[in-house]
Amino acid sequence: MDAISYQRAADVNGAIAAAQRPGAAFIGGGTNLLDLMKGGIAHPVTLVDITHIAALDTIETLPNGGLRIGALVRNSDAANHTLVRTRYPLLSQALLAGASPQLRNMATVGGNLMQRTRCAYFYDTAFAQCNKRSPGSGCAAIGGFNRMHAVLGASAQCVAVNPSDMSVALAALEATVQVNGPRGSRAIAFGAFHRLPGDRPDLDTTLQSGELITSVDLPPPLFSEHSHYLKVRDRASYAFALVSVASALQLDGNHVRAVRIALGGVAHRPWRASVAEHHLTGKMLSAATLREAAAAELAQAKPLNGNAFKVGLAQRAIIRSTMLAAAGTQGTTAENAAENNAGDFA
Ligand code: SF4
Repeated sequence: MDAISYQRAADVNGAIAAAQRPGAAFIGGGTNLLDLMKGGIAHPVTLVDITHIAALDTIETLPNGGLRIGALVRNSDAANHTLVRTRYPLLSQALLAGASPQLRNMATVGGNLMQRTRCAYFYDTAFAQCNKRSPGSGCAAIGGFNRMHAVLGASAQCVAVNPSDMSVALAALEATVQVNGPRGSRAIAFGAFHRLPGDRPDLDTTLQSGELITSVDLPPPLFSEHSHYLKVRDRASYAFALVSVASALQLDGNHVRAVRIALGGVAHRPWRASVAEHHLTGKMLSAATLREAAAAELAQAKPLNGNAFKVGLAQRAIIRSTMLAAAGTQGTTAENAAENNAGDFA
């Protein structure tokens, strides 16, 4: 058993100062970190408890009309907040599609951004080969059981996927991650927050050592009328996505004025479908245009031996999610999310 010291931070500066100790880690909801510690994957020497920093547990409007969601806001509170439900229903739907009610009640927005891949080889230390857990050791998934793994943006070092639903919606909404650290505060565009694996799969994000996420900022709402989060998974709840799609549209009649599409379950980070977006922008929305756009996006896919089905599934999910978004944003209850998940993807 590892010896761990515990320190409760009263404010952001105190948390950052405490985190300068070697081996320190922030703990919020703990829904992923405690699993990693119990599995012998994470070995923090000091846990810096940030859950008592009241300033990080608020949701407030920004002067530009956007919304600031504090890093300590629980996933369930964010999903059910009136301003999130009415202005950013895409985010609410994605949050409610994630995990279970009990986990959403504990998990924080900042922690959701930091959750690590669910690759089974990463979590099972009986497998020596995992470049994310032990850099330079190899990747057991590439020649192993890789049904859940990446088809886009992977590398010869790692084919893991990011497990977050929330982050897929935030990628489509072009959020900004606000962080504070030993060198002060900075803002990270959401598309630059999570990394592709490249030759450093041990690094999931571009956060620097000792930096603390303080909030996620959403720009003014542009897509509340036409957005949809579709999650395709092996069972109707409490399962990670095989493929998920966040679709958001601005329409003039059937004409696409603006479109955002992001994919989950297919890459090491939420995958912005910029090729598909380019194909759709300025066009009349139709099944044919959507088929072309989805095919163009997935043309760059490189499936593994066990997950070629994801290429077609992702195309069909893009088409369905974007058509549902075009039909008008639906409710944001968990029941809606389950119904939307149960469609025909043929
Ligand atoms: Fe490890 Fe990544 Fe390979 Fe999974 S896919 S075994 S996380 S290196």
